[in-house]
Amino acid sequence: MNSTKSILLLTSAFIFSVFSSFGQINLRYEKNETLKYDEIIEAYRYLDKTWEEAKLFEVGLTDIGKPLHLFVISKDKDFDPESIHSRKKCVVFINNGIHPGEPPGIDASIQFSEDLLSGKDGLNSLLDHTVICIVPVYNVGGCLNRSPYHRTNQDTPPESGFRGNAKHLDLNRDFIKMDSKNARSLVQAFHEWKPEVFLDTHVTNGSDHQYVITLIPTIYQRLPEPMSRFFREKMIPDLFSQMHKTPYEMIPYVNWLKGGSNPDQGIAAYYDAPRVSTGFASTFNTYAFMTENHVYKEFRDQVKSVYAFMKALVSFSNINSEEIIRTKNEADEQSKHAKQFTSKWKLDRTHSESLLFKGYEGGMVKSQLTEQMLYHYDRNRPYEKEVPFYRQFLPEESLTKPEMYLIPQAWEKAIRHLQLNGVKLERLVKDIEIEVNAYHLSSYQFSTRLNNGHFRVNDIQTTKEQQKIQFYKGDYIVIMNQKLNRFIMEVLEPVCGDSYLSWNFFNPVFERREYFSPSGFESKALKYLDENPELKKQFEKKKGTDPEFAKNSYAQFSYIYNHSPYLEKSYLRYPVYRIEEKQDLPLE
Ligand SMILES: [Zn+2]
Repeated sequence: MNSTKSILLLTSAFIFSVFSSFGQINLRYEKNETLKYDEIIEAYRYLDKTWEEAKLFEVGLTDIGKPLHLFVISKDKDFDPESIHSRKKCVVFINNGIHPGEPPGIDASIQFSEDLLSGKDGLNSLLDHTVICIVPVYNVGGCLNRSPYHRTNQDTPPESGFRGNAKHLDLNRDFIKMDSKNARSLVQAFHEWKPEVFLDTHVTNGSDHQYVITLIPTIYQRLPEPMSRFFREKMIPDLFSQMHKTPYEMIPYVNWLKGGSNPDQGIAAYYDAPRVSTGFASTFNTYAFMTENHVYKEFRDQVKSVYAFMKALVSFSNINSEEIIRTKNEADEQSKHAKQFTSKWKLDRTHSESLLFKGYEGGMVKSQLTEQMLYHYDRNRPYEKEVPFYRQFLPEESLTKPEMYLIPQAWEKAIRHLQLNGVKLERLVKDIEIEVNAYHLSSYQFSTRLNNGHFRVNDIQTTKEQQKIQFYKGDYIVIMNQKLNRFIMEVLEPVCGDSYLSWNFFNPVFERREYFSPSGFESKALKYLDENPELKKQFEKKKGTDPEFAKNSYAQFSYIYNHSPYLEKSYLRYPVYRIEEKQDLPLE
């Protein structure tokens, strides 16, 4: 026996002693502690070795250089996603440790996996119509970066991981731009397994209240109608009611209404944009949830409550697998054919429901540190009251779907990102001039504040113009007959909140490449004015009515340059083009 082998055996023996008797031994979370990265992966290795119904996969790399793991539980021992879907199994995908300082889902998932596999309390019957995919830890780098000082307001667990990953990115803003390897690996796994149901586990601080667990369901209005109705009327109420029967009654995420000073004035549903996990998942017609455990509660209760939610979610998915799969398939079909797409939503502040809220009275008290007044919750004064809950979002702006988009091959990053998301791309087989609709970027604002490594482009407005553009062999076409249409428009339409343009994928078009010098341009400018009497009239009028302009020689040259064919066409022209009507193009 060589030394590596003996170490492996010793490790297995250690792991076995720790993990073989879940539920019987005093588990780490019972001591308000969370497992370390190596222990987490070892736990799943142990489960993989012990149960034929489970497999631990490596599904790509993460920024720290270690693999991203995916643990799959399939009662039929079938680990082929296509075959699983063809047999009408509902895939539930659970993502943990996106913010490793918020770890209850990490510890709960290990316990839940063990109990599902060992059939504790008949739990393995929840696997009759489901297959469970678990990401043990998504932000591996953040999990390895462990300290008692990362989570200032958090007392249990006493030590945990860090929000940023190895590249200092917040991975819960990275699903569209995919700056991290973590995101590129997870997105591919997501599209390979095509889950019907998705859960991402978190911990939140902020206002104090009596609940250990709160829930963010994805904004249901964004889901196509068959899913939206089922989600709103059946799935969400059932999950709240199941949780009500556990020691961990759940409430919607306590997101204060904008402008409010405490939850009494109203709670608003959290708008999960596509850059965040659930917003991303629901863009692909997946029922998506984020649990937010409450930071001030004991870690062991956080773990048990998110465990209870996982059980409720899988139980619902198991019982309702047929309807979940049917509504998703119908939604996918609808997405292929929908002609209109909402590009902007707003919270309806005129419409609220009543929510029974269990909070703590609060008020201003003097800070011992600064002697200034601070808002403080008094846990000795719990209350129950009805508060308004706003969860209706209304479409604010919409766009018509084009027949296709054309993307010159120069824009590799956008193309690669579309491909990683499973978008079908065709290619031109020859050089050809095509009449297209081109967007001119008429107004925009570069943010002066960094947002996850980006100076984003905000407040984008466009005008549309028919133009003949030269395309070349190998340029890309996206035909809009795909079930991913909504995702495609979210990222390719400039005005959408998470468009590739807004995330700086096309920054060079905001710069000019050519200029003029007044002395060299003068004779051409004069000639151009002579040939264009209408422009000359406008120019003279401006000079006559705008004294500043009349004094500024460069402004006058610029005026003529900007109104002449000398101004480069590609400046401020969005380089993804729309074709509105069906057209035969020479494709591969
Ligand atoms: Zn979080």
